[in-house]
Amino acid sequence: MSPTRPAAPVEVAPGVHFVEGPASNWTILAGDGTLTLVDAGYPADLELVESSLRAVASATDGDARLTSVLVTHGHSDHIGTITALRRRHEFEVFAAPAEVPNVTREQLHQVTVGDVLPHLYKPRFARWVLHAVRAGGLGDVAVTDVVPLDLGASRTFSGHRVVPTAAVGHTPGHTVFALPDDDVLITGDALVTGHPTSRLDGVQMLHPIFHSDLAEAGRTYGRLVDRGARVVLPGHGPVLRR
Ligand SMILES: [Zn+2]
Repeated sequence: MSPTRPAAPVEVAPGVHFVEGPASNWTILAGDGTLTLVDAGYPADLELVESSLRAVASATDGDARLTSVLVTHGHSDHIGTITALRRRHEFEVFAAPAEVPNVTREQLHQVTVGDVLPHLYKPRFARWVLHAVRAGGLGDVAVTDVVPLDLGASRTFSGHRVVPTAAVGHTPGHTVFALPDDDVLITGDALVTGHPTSRLDGVQMLHPIFHSDLAEAGRTYGRLVDRGARVVLPGHGPVLRR
């Protein structure tokens, strides 16, 4: 969670670049002269997201343009830069139908101050809250004009076949993205490998307060643990290679 972490993209499969941000992760797919961003960090990560897009573009095709943003879920640490990015780039934003209201903020499914208060005596939670607030986590991150994704159907983004798959519980429409030809699974917050509030390393669930339906999130997590992919890219924590 160090604010000085450079957030440099790491190419985990050809044309699949993973960025471990200061407090949440994003992925950039490159191909066909375009870039696709999967999740977009906190509002304060804007320049890090921009610099990672530039780094991937210059490593692949200097003229590659950002044309699509895919959203695993509508929490502010995953959609925080999208509206600001739209002032600089022209792209479409995609989310699962059940997640669209959370991304547009017609509904809000996110941890509340009341959920966090009982845990604030723990230094890890206190540090995380401080970072979340400083990073713009309480600001307005609503995204307009979100295109609903066809779950289970494969669609090509920046030259990569992507299959959006429902993985609900963390939020009502949380989605994971399988890239079958790359043997990559982008899990968002349905399965993570670390979090500032957790003392554990390795595959884990986020703390119970973060899930809108804990029982459902547990079932989804169990399915994902068993799901084979050579490379797993979580919403928080480092890349997992199997
Ligand atoms: Zn998150």
